[in-house]
Amino acid sequence: MTKIHNIYEAPFIKEMCEATRNLWNNGWAERNGGNISYRLDEAEVGFYLDTDRVLSEVNLGFEIPELANMIFLVSGSGKYFKNVWQNPADNLVILKVSEDGQKYQVLWGLETGGVPTSELASHLKCHSVRLKQDPDHRVILHTHSIAISAMTFVHDLEEDKFTKTLWEMITECLIVFPDGVAILPWMVAGTVELGEASAEKMHDCRIVVWPHHGIMGAGQSMDDAFGLVETAEKAADIYLRAVSTSTGIIQKITDQQLWDLADRFGVTPKAGILAPRK
Ligand SMILES: [Zn+2]
Repeated sequence: MTKIHNIYEAPFIKEMCEATRNLWNNGWAERNGGNISYRLDEAEVGFYLDTDRVLSEVNLGFEIPELANMIFLVSGSGKYFKNVWQNPADNLVILKVSEDGQKYQVLWGLETGGVPTSELASHLKCHSVRLKQDPDHRVILHTHSIAISAMTFVHDLEEDKFTKTLWEMITECLIVFPDGVAILPWMVAGTVELGEASAEKMHDCRIVVWPHHGIMGAGQSMDDAFGLVETAEKAADIYLRAVSTSTGIIQKITDQQLWDLADRFGVTPKAGILAPRK
């Protein structure tokens, strides 16, 4: 019989603890704000858990057959990121999407009760879309990052204009998110509608801004998704600091310089944002 190892030693649990703690330390996950889902390999989970042992089964309220049998580590609804590292088994859940794609099955976690994040619909729908774009996709991360949220009060919310401003703030932005940033209208949190709208946006890019709320990012790993959100957030912070000075912005990275950057790093900027190259 396979020896079952201590799940607290699992890299995916450690990564989740570290990410949630860092998000809270950054001031981006107040109270129960923020949620993360992390697609796991069944073989890796099987090293720590009996994946056939279902603790409970719950209707999703929507169908997602393309994710059937996939396993996710997800933050719990109403749980505080501040507390995850101290008690992962109470604040996180490992769930498996049922064979028919209509239910989720709890395999581990939420020891004192509770349910997965209220944004589970958003997460699963975004995973579905990103997996079609990138088979190595794994993480969806939503957090209440400060500068991006502040920027949604003072900057035009047209996606291409918002994207260009971010690209102009830090040299790395164009390389990290050449597909740009998508922006939804303000929507009620925790709804299937918000999930569907976010997923629709994730066909074309990995960052979706929820105005006056926060940001959702997708990545191939926890570091990738965290780094993506961190980069957009840093750029927004620099923008806000620059426009808050008495002079405002008097120079920035030019379109030609952004083209030079794209050529050097082999990325294709989202079409229609930069002026034609010289
Ligand atoms: Zn939120």
